[in-house]
Amino acid sequence: MATTYNVIGSIRGAVEPDKYVMAGNHHDAWVFGAIDPSSATATMMEMSRAYGKLVRDGWRPRRSIVFCSWGAEEYGMIGSNEFVEELSKNLATRAIVYLNLDVSVAGTYKILARSSPLLFKAMHEATKKVIDPNRSSDGKVQTVYENWLQKGPKTSEDVPLIGDLGASSDHAPFVNRIGVPSTSIGYIGESAAFPMYHSVYETFHLVSTYYDPTFEYHATVARVWGEVLRSFADSLVLPMDCRDYAKRIDELFQSFKTDYGEKLGAEGISLDILEDAIQNMTSSAEYFHTTIDGLKDTRE
Ligand SMILES: [Zn+2]
Repeated sequence: MATTYNVIGSIRGAVEPDKYVMAGNHHDAWVFGAIDPSSATATMMEMSRAYGKLVRDGWRPRRSIVFCSWGAEEYGMIGSNEFVEELSKNLATRAIVYLNLDVSVAGTYKILARSSPLLFKAMHEATKKVIDPNRSSDGKVQTVYENWLQKGPKTSEDVPLIGDLGASSDHAPFVNRIGVPSTSIGYIGESAAFPMYHSVYETFHLVSTYYDPTFEYHATVARVWGEVLRSFADSLVLPMDCRDYAKRIDELFQSFKTDYGEKLGAEGISLDILEDAIQNMTSSAEYFHTTIDGLKDTRE
């Protein structure tokens, strides 16, 4: 038996304090955990320090910001699950997004992002505002977005592809239990796997000698993550795009239909109702964004 803790800090919002924009990572590790999770913990400590400075300088976000440092992630995401179970009513109606970080730097090649589709645009916009430590192939300074786009993979619309969230980190209870859209980002090598994962060799020496001696990749992830957080905490209209959600659902449906449509049809099971519902969602999302784009900010 052991006792573990969640450590929660918050900045109260100035206009909508009952809306929570949340960010978190875990603090427990299998062994020394210099990459998983301490690269992410260092990133979160730095980001929360920067936000603390903004508050001391007189800034306040529109919505409340909540920083979460979870215990016992490795044993089945116990800390984050307990938190979400205990506060599920409150969080399900008030949490806007939960931005997760687990492994912040496992390489220096490009950013890897996974996300709920509602947040794709916000992720792309944030990476356009941050300089990447990697120079372009012709030696020019470039943004995280440009490095990411060049190294791929890309979508058919020529933007960096953002993958679906898995279920193996602290975003899982937020996404799967209470439907709060989430993201996860980190710097990776040419492959997403890193060989020292969860081993006794995940030490500070490994990170400070080989992975990121200047810690500039850690700082880059902190800037991107901080900017995604700021965009949700401070924008007048939340930077979510429902059209991306409808599109992703349609893509998943089309692949399901290709694989199983014929077999289900032979059993007398039709997918028409589901397809209609997806089309309704697609046109509602279009209408919603056309309406929002037509609004004018009439504040003095
Ligand atoms: Zn982890």
